[in-house]
Amino acid sequence: MRFCVVGAGFSGAIIARHLSEKGYRVLLIDERSHLAGNCHTERDAKTGIMLHRYGPHIFHTSNLRAWKYVNRFGDFEPYVNRVKAVSGGRVYTLPINLLTINQFFGKTFSPREAYDFIRTKADQKIFDPDNFEDQALSMIGPELYHAFFYGYTRKQWGMDPRELPASILKRLPLRFNYDDNYFSHTYQGMPKDGYTSIIERILEIPNVEIRIGTRFEDVEEKFIHVFYTGPLDRYFGFKFGRLGYRTLDFERIEGEGDYQGAAVINYCDEQIPYTRISEHKHFAPWEADQFSKTVCFREYSRLCGEEDIPYYPIRLAKETELLECYVAHARNVRGVSFLGRLGTYRYLDMDVTIAEALSACDRIDEIFSAGGTLPAFFIK
Ligand code: FAD
Ligand code: UDP
Repeated sequence: MRFCVVGAGFSGAIIARHLSEKGYRVLLIDERSHLAGNCHTERDAKTGIMLHRYGPHIFHTSNLRAWKYVNRFGDFEPYVNRVKAVSGGRVYTLPINLLTINQFFGKTFSPREAYDFIRTKADQKIFDPDNFEDQALSMIGPELYHAFFYGYTRKQWGMDPRELPASILKRLPLRFNYDDNYFSHTYQGMPKDGYTSIIERILEIPNVEIRIGTRFEDVEEKFIHVFYTGPLDRYFGFKFGRLGYRTLDFERIEGEGDYQGAAVINYCDEQIPYTRISEHKHFAPWEADQFSKTVCFREYSRLCGEEDIPYYPIRLAKETELLECYVAHARNVRGVSFLGRLGTYRYLDMDVTIAEALSACDRIDEIFSAGGTLPAFFIK
């Protein structure tokens, strides 16, 4: 008998490699026609530009173990995510920094002045904000909130920001200097040959049969243990109901030269139906000049239907309750472990996914070296 790993994204590839290194035989399956899950990159057949098929992916982390791990399997080029935002017909820079504040309010504030000014705008009466809107009002005040977050968030999540948790906004920094790096992590970069090449190299190992275009539901073989990185509710046939997700539609735009002069421009006004436009050759600035043509994608967010690809877990109160049902159930099922973004129903960046898969490998080793068999385990 062999192991089965469901899903060939970062989570599944790391587990499959680890099992192979321990001398086990593995079947790795993915229902898509390619490796790398949502991080999949491929050269555009028409232009040769490297495309991030499921939306822009920028690698950023402060986790040295995850950073060292990915660097073993591919070269990373320096890349800093600098996002522009259109609001009320003007272009600004995100995350909110001193340039955004000065441009928006028509000022020439120093860092200290900007800080004091934003404090006068911020709602001091809101302690411990528990929803997105209160978080924004207590952090930056109503003007910046309405200009940059209100409309975009309604489009992205399809609901009023008061219904969303404060944690979504806490992902973004607020800076009183001119640093417009979207992330605050120690390491940031873009794989020179794309993410799929990294996954391919992780999977250059013996004893692993890779079957793409295959649904787990259609595999009849019996396994020692299954590592499942697909949607948790799907594994159980949605028996308690469906966990809510947002999905994305991408509309392709083709052009000559440079379409928008930046990799990502967000559109914050609610009346513009898309959330952002990404121009993919700018994700690879070291080769961008080679291409006379350009390819961009407008991104539209909507509720995920049964046939759609699940992207963003919604995780409101209703979903949290349902999730608890599934987690309780998952803990009692033997022979399968759940991990990854879909298996644990959490919004995970790549580095967290990688760090958690590596921790799962440590746990597998502990269990095997103690002579035990793998229980159903559920990470977080
Ligand atoms: P996935 O990549 O989703 O892989 C799971 C795989 O399982 C899929 O390929 C799926 O086809 C397969 N599968 C599911 N069910 C079955 C089944 N029943 N049978 C067979 N196969 C199945 N992270 C960053 O760090 N930086 C970013 O800039 C960034 N940008 C993002 C932008 C968007 C639009 C999205 C949605 C995510 C972004 N992420 C980003 C997060 C990143 O995509 C995830 O961290 C990563 O893909 C998680 O890897 P995974 O292996 O857990 O899951
Ligand atoms: N957001 C916004 N306007 C922007 C960028 C982000 O309102 O121009 C909000 C939106 O709700 C988003 C959240 O801030 O989901 C977190 O932003 P991030 O860039 O981390 O979003 P993601 O990576 O999920 O696309």
